[in-house]
This record gives sequence, structure tokens and C-alpha cells, in this order.
Amino acid sequence: MNTRQQFAEYFLDIYGQVDFVPVAGRGSRLYGESGEELIDFAGGIAVNGLGHCHPQLIKALTTQAEKLWHVSNIMVNQPAIELGRLLTSNSCFDKAFICNSGTEAVEAALKLSRRYARNNFGPEKNKIVAFKNGFHGRSLFAVSVGGQAKYSQDFAPLPPAIVHGIFNDLASACALIDDNTAVVVLEPIQAEGGIIAAHPEFIQKLRELCDKHQAMLMFDEVQTGIGRTGALFAYQHYAIEPDIISLAKALGCGFPIGAILVKDKFSSGFDLGSHGSTFGGNPLACAVAAAAFKIINTPEILDGVRLRSKLLQDGLHKINNELNIYSEIRGMGLLLGAELKPELHNQAREIMLSGFKHGVASLTASPNVTRLTPALNIPELDIQEGLERLYLTLYAYTKGV
Ligand code: PLP
Repeated sequence: MNTRQQFAEYFLDIYGQVDFVPVAGRGSRLYGESGEELIDFAGGIAVNGLGHCHPQLIKALTTQAEKLWHVSNIMVNQPAIELGRLLTSNSCFDKAFICNSGTEAVEAALKLSRRYARNNFGPEKNKIVAFKNGFHGRSLFAVSVGGQAKYSQDFAPLPPAIVHGIFNDLASACALIDDNTAVVVLEPIQAEGGIIAAHPEFIQKLRELCDKHQAMLMFDEVQTGIGRTGALFAYQHYAIEPDIISLAKALGCGFPIGAILVKDKFSSGFDLGSHGSTFGGNPLACAVAAAAFKIINTPEILDGVRLRSKLLQDGLHKINNELNIYSEIRGMGLLLGAELKPELHNQAREIMLSGFKHGVASLTASPNVTRLTPALNIPELDIQEGLERLYLTLYAYTKGV
């Protein structure tokens, strides 16, 4: 059996993975080689929307695997057409582009926005307004647009004409958005940055400013999209429509795929030959994503997210009443954050590691926040048991036992 130590021999050390090596997953449980079992509150970082090895996704994947794997974009394919139909007919958007990851989706959306602005208003209109503390992926463009210097500073020189406002600060946004702005981009809930939701009045003002200055409004819904917040897309909570969004993560529920969705008005930003991807729109990925979308876009799953969110939040509050470790429990749907009290600052990762020893997988979002992004269909029993394990983790961690 291969071990975590062997992994370290062969791979660049960029993730700091835990020692547990899962070999199988079912629903919201993960299993190691010797039968060790974890309750999965991490959900593959908001990816495994339907848990591990959902029977209908296995069927979609294996059925497609028997038919056709890859043709490249010199031809169209049936699953891609189906996915395009589902995404555009269930959103405010008209056109899609499919790629393979969140970073690629962000990259494509930003390129489209700049090209649309240049073609329609001239080369001066190229400014990208993004927000501090935001996260948009790891390509050079994506880390430059992301608002965390730790991910970009060592890779300078960075692409120009990207500025960062203060998230949820209207004055800061007003000062930056002008006639040279091509696109304003934000996560409706800053996820990696600590689970911080945009205020409705902030989003509404951004929409107004974009309209006033003929700039596009882009939501990066890589983490919030496809049911994560209890709505199919997080923009639906805000009574406005963005012009373009990026998707990935739960879109493929574990099969790598990303997408952008854009309104007709702006779709001329890309035309023949202006962008592309060899694997984007691959029949295997699209077959899985289409099957996942049909399951997630049902009251059973979306209403269930709200119910499960309440169970988890109630459980976190109960833990906090006993152990007094969190200063705030926040988030939407199944994108939840529990901010540690100042005396436990910078210990979110240690607490996460300790959880693995007590049979529960969770995540961090910034050094001070524990993040939970379980499957949208996590069984209620697993929530209860996972919370008990989390309590034991935190009890042992804080009491030093
Ligand atoms: N955008 C957001 C909001 C994300 O949370 C992430 C990943 O965490 C990305 C983009 C990058 O996605 P990927 O890792 O699939 O490239």
C-alpha cells in the first residue's frame, strides 16, 4: 500500500496534505485502507455536491464512458449540448463556455469582459475592479485579480490595470469604478477569505455603478454556485442579475469541469477563435455535470440545503455554548464558517488536523475560520455524528487532552 510519505517523495510539497489516505468514499463518509472512517464535512472543498459515488452519477459516467470520451472542439457532442441547455434555461444567462476548472472559468470570463470592453469602447476601457481578500484561482491572472497578496506577490510582474476595493465598502467601490472599468468582479460570499457574504446594498450599488459606467458585473460563483447556498446560484439571493458568472466545483460534483455563463448582450466578447480549450466541453465531464445538475435543481436538494444548514449551525452554536471558542458562526446554506475567538487565532489548521484524528474532515477559510462545506445531500445522521466528533475534537484540543 502506498503511503503519505511516498507521496512526498514524488510530488512538490504545495498542499501540506493530512496523513489520512482515503481509498473509498460513499455518501458523506470516507474510508482508509485499514477501515478507518471519516465523516466528510469538507466535501472536497465544496465540490462533492452529491457526496461520494452517487449512484446516478456513476451511471451517467459509466454510460458515457462506454460511448464516447473525447472529440475536442472541432465537433460538438450530445452531453455538452444538454448541459448548455440546462445551464442557460435555469439561469438569467443566454450563452455558456465550458472549461475544466474554476481558474479557467475566471480567466475566460475576465478575458471576455476585457475584449468586450475593448471592441465596444476602445483600448482604454480595460480596468478590472476586484476586492481585497477575494480569491479567484491560481493562474497568474487569477492571483492578480484575487485580493490576497500572499498568492501573487512572489510572481511579479503581474498583469496591469487590476485594482482592489474594500469588500462591502460602498465608498471604496465608488472611488474605483469609472468609465475605464471593463468589469467588476467579486465572490458573492468570499469563501477562501473567511466566509464573508456581500451585503445586499453593496451588491445593488455595484450593479448601479456598472450600469452607469457601462462595465460588466461578474460574480465568481465557483464556490457558491450549483446549490451550495440553497439557491441554484448565489446571485438569486440578491435581487439583481450579474452579466457573467464563473462556475466549477459542484458543477461536476467531483468530475473536473468549469463554465462561464454570460448574457446575450455581452456574448460578442468572444467570437470565432478568440478563446478555447482542448478538453473543455468533454463528453464525460458534461454527462456527469448534466446528471448532477438535474438532481441538484430540485426542491428536495435545494430545500434540503436550508434544513441541513440549520442543523449544522444549531450544532455549532451548541458546541460554542459549551466550549466558548467561536466569536461568530456565519455563512449561507452549506457554505459555513465558524470564526475562532482571538485566543485561538491562527489555529484553524491545527484544529482541522485534530478533527481528522477524531474522524471528521473539515476545512479552514483563512487562519482563524473553520469552514464546513459538506455534500448538499449529507444525511442528517451524518450531520449529528459529525457534530459529535467535532465536539470531541474541540474538547480535546482546548482542554489539551
Ligand atoms: N474562484 C473561487 C471563488 C474559488 O473558491 C476557487 C477555488 O477555490 C477558484 C475560483 C479556483 O478554482 P479551481 O481551483 O477549480 O481552479
